Amino acid sequence: MNFFTHHEFDHHEQVVFCHDQATGLKAIIAIHNTHRGPALGGCRMYPYASDEEALNDVLRLSKGMTYKSAIANLPLGGGKSVIIGDPRRDKTPELMRAMGTAVERLGGRYIVAEDSGTNVADMLLMGAITQHVSGIAEKCDAKGNCRSGDPSPMTARGTFVGIQAAVNHRLGRTDLEGIRVAIQGVGNVGHHLAKQLHDAGAKLFVSDINHTAVDQMVSELGATAVANEAIYDQEVDVFAPCALGAIINDQTIPRLRASIVAGAANNQLAEKRHGEALAKKGILYAPDYVINAGGVIDVCYERNSVAQDQIIKQVDAIGETLHEIFTRSEAQHKPTYELADQLAEERFAG
Ligand code: NAD
Repeated sequence: MNFFTHHEFDHHEQVVFCHDQATGLKAIIAIHNTHRGPALGGCRMYPYASDEEALNDVLRLSKGMTYKSAIANLPLGGGKSVIIGDPRRDKTPELMRAMGTAVERLGGRYIVAEDSGTNVADMLLMGAITQHVSGIAEKCDAKGNCRSGDPSPMTARGTFVGIQAAVNHRLGRTDLEGIRVAIQGVGNVGHHLAKQLHDAGAKLFVSDINHTAVDQMVSELGATAVANEAIYDQEVDVFAPCALGAIINDQTIPRLRASIVAGAANNQLAEKRHGEALAKKGILYAPDYVINAGGVIDVCYERNSVAQDQIIKQVDAIGETLHEIFTRSEAQHKPTYELADQLAEERFAG
């Protein structure tokens, strides 16, 4: 396996391969850039088919976090970790504690949080070993309503305001009544997003490899269940990817019938050129790391004990940032992802 010539390597500061014989932990932690502050990013647990696939993912995801924190103006750098394994089969408290030890060894250069395949309980287990964990504090608002440190609701909120901004820009609508949205993946973020969209009057089409999650959306929200592969072909206004990355690619773009791609998944474009292909096809793309920054904003301010209403205000500002990106993109005849990248790169330049 090549590393410094790896196609996803992009001046990453540090990449650590972590193993624990007793628990069978196999993990990779990647720190992309710490110019703005410590590298914060989620820990993904997934049954990767190979070590190469896991490395690919962690290199891409950690770089994405640098861009996300920078564009959200947070005092954070970008990092990410992956655990190779099936969260439903291989996860044990001992494994999570071993991951906590791996994080602790980096002395605060990397701060871990939840991601696909991990949750608040896992972070609490890691938190018993290392203080460099976020996404665990219980937060209460002025009315005394408390919730756990799970960042998914804020990620969903940011994605929801992002969809509103995109619909407003592309369709000239200020409401979502009757807007058709296809959601790929109704897990932690996807199901919160589905509820908000439903409350706003949107019509939902959902797919997930977890059939129970789909059934829940059908019975609770009257969503239409869609077969996994058919999600790209839906006659909808918005395609909202909320599962895994690289789903905007040569195979899927010709199939998309939506005029907007706006969802929470990280690294949605398989390659940058796919952002251009979307623009050429007249599809408005809300750059993933801009629209899904709600979680990292939440997690960042949790560490600095910022009040809930302030966090909500900053999450809602995602809509304004996207509006600016969409407007500039039109004025400069450049794809939206390029303008977002430019803005982020200016902000994390060392
Ligand atoms: P999750 O694991 O809770 O949900 C993902 C869902 O997608 C699961 O229900 C899973 O069964 C489903 N899925 C997996 N493969 C699929 C496929 N091929 N087709 C359809 N469904 C599939 O994860 P999550 O926390 O909801 O995160 C979803 C995405 O959003 C990820 O890309 C994650 O990196 C990104 N994200 C999450 C947060 C957060 O706060 N949780 C923040 C930013 C970005």
